[in-house]
Amino acid sequence: MYSMIEHLVTGTADLIAAFLFMYGLKRMSSPVSAPSGIRVAGIGMLVAILASFLNAFTVNAAARPHLWVNLGLAVIALVLGASAAWFKGRTVAMTEMPQMVAIYNGLGGGAAGAIAAVELFGNKTHGTTQLVVTLLGGLIGAVSLSGSVIAWAKLDTILKKPLRFRGQRFLNAFVFLASIAVAGYMIFAAHAGGATLLPMASIIWIFFGLTLLFGILMTLPIGGADMPVVISIYNAATGLAVGLDGFVIQEPALMIAGMVVGAAGTLLTLLMARAMNRSVSNVLFSNFGEVSKKKQGKIKGAEKPVEASDAGIFMRYAKSVIVIPGYGLAVAQAQEKLYEFVKLLQAAGVDVKFAIHPVAGRMPGQMDVLLAEAGVPYDLIFQLDDINDDFATTDVALVIGANDVVNPAADTDKSSPIYGMPILNANKAKKCYCVKRGQGKGYSGIANELFYEDNTYMVYGDAQAMLVKMIEAVRGLSAAAA
Ligand code: NDP
Repeated sequence: MYSMIEHLVTGTADLIAAFLFMYGLKRMSSPVSAPSGIRVAGIGMLVAILASFLNAFTVNAAARPHLWVNLGLAVIALVLGASAAWFKGRTVAMTEMPQMVAIYNGLGGGAAGAIAAVELFGNKTHGTTQLVVTLLGGLIGAVSLSGSVIAWAKLDTILKKPLRFRGQRFLNAFVFLASIAVAGYMIFAAHAGGATLLPMASIIWIFFGLTLLFGILMTLPIGGADMPVVISIYNAATGLAVGLDGFVIQEPALMIAGMVVGAAGTLLTLLMARAMNRSVSNVLFSNFGEVSKKKQGKIKGAEKPVEASDAGIFMRYAKSVIVIPGYGLAVAQAQEKLYEFVKLLQAAGVDVKFAIHPVAGRMPGQMDVLLAEAGVPYDLIFQLDDINDDFATTDVALVIGANDVVNPAADTDKSSPIYGMPILNANKAKKCYCVKRGQGKGYSGIANELFYEDNTYMVYGDAQAMLVKMIEAVRGLSAAAA
């Protein structure tokens, strides 16, 4: 009777958690409701954790000899993990956010791999299906862990260049097939009654060694502008691995949370791949972002610098301005100054819109978050497909700390790592001002023809400092007129 009540309570809690996850995710689809969506999903996670603790009591007493020790260890792990995450979440700089997301993603994959490892080392799997699912969860979790660590190092610029060498694809395929072969051997050995050439523990170590190595090898050559797709692939993979583990250990909360993350991550992957104008199979099986930089011709002409104050005054008298924010805006933390400048232009009757590229910044949605932080109304913000045709009839494109997402080479240069990626058509506006500190390249490391075009003018300096000058210049005009 007691156990039946516990089953009922944990079942209901799992159902509530599932509902809260879905509802939270739904609310995350709009910037207005996203903050409450995150809170709702967080409450769902709390319910799921409590249900998991309760679930431990529904297991037969004989099957849980170390129940209290295990619960104590789980509480210690929760307190340590939650405190570290709370501290990091409160102190992280906006520009470090992508690295943080990448490493948390990897930790999720690592946790999934660890659950699979516990099951395999403890010889707890029953039957072929459970063993196959455990191995799959272990493989995907381990690849996601080591791959995400490399992605983190790349985003943190600890690893600066993609590592490519002759025979790389062959080596990757070999390591992947070897890990599948070891998994196959473990399944075969389980069928054949457990006799193996090496002790089973050694074979499990080899399996995890190979899968971790595969994650590293697969991510090392990625460069150019393909990182956003890769990060969302690992996000989806982590969810899938967690979901599979949930099936193995019969933990509904894990199954639900894993599948929700897996499904949302898969959709994000498809969207990001579409934004980069690549198919997912092309991203997965071609050489990620392979470039022949040698083939990149030298750009003719020279960049034309102008004073920030002159650019500000020109925009004050324009009819329409489209602002294109990029990674440099996050670096400079200039979002508030940007909106202050935009409000001055609006007060002078200028029609101002913001154009967001899907891979601007270093993580999906980073520009939306920055602009929301500054209080920019959502009806001024447009995504690429909704605004790209407007550039041709716009007086000024103001590019702030963006580079790759406005690089015309994506349309014109087949040897470019970003070839095929849709760009924001800043070059089609009547005049283009680009604010950046100097000759620095974008994430893909290639030069940008836009900066040399006849109608483009460069405002050199930190985005925040340049916006302050623009604001002062426009305010100066109003003061002189008064
Ligand atoms: P880019 O990385 O292409 O360019 C940013 C530019 O900002 C640089 O050229 C730099 O030039 C300038 N900059 C840096 N600091 C400042 C500052 N303080 N003030 C003014 N300018 C500054 O950014 P984009 O947003 O255009 O493109 C994003 C790139 O990142 C794409 O290639 C994308 O694929 C990649 N990426 C995106 C991810 C995502 O999920 N969104 C994830 C991983 C990678 P200078 O040094 O001269 O100032």
